[in-house]
Amino acid sequence: MDDLYFVDAHSQVDEHLTDLSLITRRMSKSGVKRTILAPRGMRTHRDILDFTAANVPGLIIPAIRTKGQAYINNDPQYYENLHQHVTSNCFGALGEVLLYHAAKRNQAGEVIAGEVLVCPKDPQVEAAYNAAKAKGWPLVAHIEYAAFMSRIERERSATELQELMRFKRELKELWSLSRQAKHPIVLIHMAQMNDTMMSELLEESDRIYFMTSCCNPIQGAGSNQPWTQMFDEETLMLKPEWKELITAYPKRFIFAIDNVWRYHWDVQYKHVVKLWQDALHELPSNIAHALAHGNAERMWRLDEYRLPDHCR
Ligand SMILES: [Zn+2]
Repeated sequence: MDDLYFVDAHSQVDEHLTDLSLITRRMSKSGVKRTILAPRGMRTHRDILDFTAANVPGLIIPAIRTKGQAYINNDPQYYENLHQHVTSNCFGALGEVLLYHAAKRNQAGEVIAGEVLVCPKDPQVEAAYNAAKAKGWPLVAHIEYAAFMSRIERERSATELQELMRFKRELKELWSLSRQAKHPIVLIHMAQMNDTMMSELLEESDRIYFMTSCCNPIQGAGSNQPWTQMFDEETLMLKPEWKELITAYPKRFIFAIDNVWRYHWDVQYKHVVKLWQDALHELPSNIAHALAHGNAERMWRLDEYRLPDHCR
């Protein structure tokens, strides 16, 4: 399977990675043919478009960022930006939309990222869903399901509990909406689900897909969050239950790294891709190719994407 290449269907970059060419150098060394890339922090959409233009067509697929305070606060600015970027026709994808994101703490126990809870039927999500649908792009949703479930168990306030239950209810409605509209929803980071739960969802809705980011011992190292672990920590191979699930639903899993910080690009990158390269050798070739690149290419029509002249 020497010709197995990868498409990274979701990654991000901020201003701390000053030399963006590190991204393309890492890609070419690791056999990653395309990256769907969204800006974060102080990185602008303009930076991503310039970076797209500076490389051979199709290497970088620029994605629209939805995340940020404007999104969380349901500020009109969020809708203005979304509309402006969608109608510019410059982009090839919509970046992940945060639904449930647990608060994250550093080693010292200080909160470094607050909790985000935006219910699936809240207008921000609806706007993102409609934008994605209009452009023919999947909606990429970030849901930390395991953390969400333990949050429900811990909750003592009746009002908050009500909000959490609304979230759970609307999530079910979102699955059936995507099924009826025949529009794909991609759950990034495997939604923090275990294989049993995922297999039920895959069976229930043929429009739900999963992205493999964060679910390996390299990216999950040092995290106290209940990320899905697809790999056996000793053999560094996919656990049998995951091999089985991927084989049963080969079109529903999409490779993504979801780099966020500088060190992800700098230090982790090649190890993460190598881990997957080795693991996929154990799967039938057509299934390995579908997960590594084929599914993303089909769903975002990546071969067609070209940066229009007016976006340069
Ligand atoms: Zn995410």
